[in-house]
Amino acid sequence: MKSGPPETGETVSTPHSSPLTLDCTKALVVAPAWIGDTVMAQPLFRRLHENTPGLRLDALAPSWVAPVMQRMPEIGQIIGNPFAHGELSLTARYRLARQLAQAGYQRAYILPNSLKSALIPFLAGIPERVGFTGESRYGLINYRHTLDKIALPQMAERFAQLAEPLGAPLSRPLSQPRLASSSEQQAETLKALGIQRTEKVAVFCPGAEYGLAKRWPAAHFATLADELARRGYAVWLLGAPKDKAVGDEIVRLAAAATAPKNLCGNTSLTQAIDLIAASSFVVCNDSGLMHVAAALDRPLVAIYGSSSPGFTPPLSARAKIISLNLDCSPCFKRECPLGHLDCLNRLEPQRVLDACLDVPPLTLTRRELP
Ligand code: SF4
Repeated sequence: MKSGPPETGETVSTPHSSPLTLDCTKALVVAPAWIGDTVMAQPLFRRLHENTPGLRLDALAPSWVAPVMQRMPEIGQIIGNPFAHGELSLTARYRLARQLAQAGYQRAYILPNSLKSALIPFLAGIPERVGFTGESRYGLINYRHTLDKIALPQMAERFAQLAEPLGAPLSRPLSQPRLASSSEQQAETLKALGIQRTEKVAVFCPGAEYGLAKRWPAAHFATLADELARRGYAVWLLGAPKDKAVGDEIVRLAAAATAPKNLCGNTSLTQAIDLIAASSFVVCNDSGLMHVAAALDRPLVAIYGSSSPGFTPPLSARAKIISLNLDCSPCFKRECPLGHLDCLNRLEPQRVLDACLDVPPLTLTRRELP
């Protein structure tokens, strides 16, 4: 199940909540279970700090999103959440809640909308528990926001709404997510992976956890890699272990002399963050790494198939969104219900190449190389 605020189509309930009364200095965020959602939650974290200077903001987060939060200066301690896969495990949840109770959190911001995600802050006795009503979480959430889907079309806006008083409009503009990656961290990652950084590096992120209907075909990525190699670019493929097969396919289809380097599954998420930060530009499907690239302020070409850039766009002025905008899109399906996947198959490599050449790549001088 996708985490996050209620999405389009959910019935909105009328909130009935107590006003926030404490002068909160220590709060806990229950983080989303998806990397992209976690990135899109950062404007909320920044706003909470703006609202309360000196706030200590910790996070309860699954291990696979923790590396992203470690690169957010707004987040203090990160506590591992072993329950993000949906199992109930009431006894174990109670044990973790008792540990958290010792930490003295005054408030919790619960970002996923599931009932289970609200259990631990409730069991921990955290007095103020802020979130959307979600799965009928009356009582578990005692500061319940109403979602106005028209006023808040984007996921990042829905998260940020949690920083506002109940019923108040979202204060705009929102900050854009930003992840930290120093040149020292990049150099350390390159050294650990035995990679020589050249002046022109394109990163491709060919996976998409959600499903095939978000993945631009491997053959198109291979053609693009060949075109970029002809223009002097090294190409690195980044992704999770499950993306290794599609990475191998791209390498197999690319011209042998210019084959991209398939790093899918060979890096930690922390290393992937640093490699993206060290690149000239990035080409991504609509995926968690797309949001990471946007938050690292890389020039970015974002390819959309069955999903909508209106709801979860890359939050960066350097991002260029490519979508064929077919009549059938967005369908939000994991696999094409029409069987042809025209939204991605008909998106020609030349169009993506043009976009790559149009987003000015950051070409580092030798002196600036990590
Ligand atoms: S129905 Fe249309 S938008 Fe959905 S996956 Fe198929 S081609 Fe893409």
